[in-house]
Amino acid sequence: MKDKLKLWDAYPQWEDAETAWDQQASEAAKSHRLKSLPNLPHMPGITPETAKYLKWKSLFYLIRHDQNKTLNKIFFTHPIKYTLALLRSSFRKKSYERDDDFFFYGCRNLSEFEKLLTQPKSLLVLGFSYCHKPHECPSKRFTAECIHDKKNPVCQQCFIGKAVHAAPEQEVIPLFIPTIHYIGEKIFEIVQNNRKKRVLFIITACEMTLKMFGDWGNMLNIKGIGVRLDGRICNTMKAFELSEAGIKPGLTVVLPHTQKRILHLLQKRRMGSTQTS
Ligand code: SF4
Repeated sequence: MKDKLKLWDAYPQWEDAETAWDQQASEAAKSHRLKSLPNLPHMPGITPETAKYLKWKSLFYLIRHDQNKTLNKIFFTHPIKYTLALLRSSFRKKSYERDDDFFFYGCRNLSEFEKLLTQPKSLLVLGFSYCHKPHECPSKRFTAECIHDKKNPVCQQCFIGKAVHAAPEQEVIPLFIPTIHYIGEKIFEIVQNNRKKRVLFIITACEMTLKMFGDWGNMLNIKGIGVRLDGRICNTMKAFELSEAGIKPGLTVVLPHTQKRILHLLQKRRMGSTQTS
């Protein structure tokens, strides 16, 4: 990001910052209209065939594509603790609690997560799946990069850009996620490097991914929200594997009412960080 100051940092009031962001987004849309979905395809989150033995399919997928041997690294740090935690989570019917597009891991509902979010010794991972980056993204879609340049007309219209600018700088780590192994490695690294802090997360992903990998988050004892994406999601293993290789022509979206819920959480986090700084 050339100009490092976040747009939200220039405004004492959250509402003024959001109005300024939305105004520049409307202006940018007049001169640089982005490709978007003509309408929502309303696809099922997972096809019935894919839903069968999904936990086993996830495990085999993780092992088969674990080029950096991340699973070994994780298990060798605490083999007994992690195996027991993984088994505990796997034997539960669901690894999450769901409220609309929010999937809660390690906490039961929004108010519980909001309390965690305002705790001083917490660190928030704010992750975005690459499939909802715009096609015109200046950092390219299938990458772990995002310049969130507030002068760039594409970034000005992008929800990822808005969320990154709205999040406070302190104790928030934004991540742009090309693959499941990338996010697994990053989270593990963050947990290892911040043992005295409670690691929380808000991460966008397809429903299928949220169901496939919840047990692994529970194993690391991290608490957070997986945010369900809509639009051209992956709902079969084949589509998921192609997407993991960067083949994802379709665009996913965070639905407008869910964008508001994420921004509300970032507002809470920002208020918490102003009170403690
Ligand atoms: S803000 Fe959006 S458009 Fe800009 S670099 Fe990041 S993902 Fe791409």
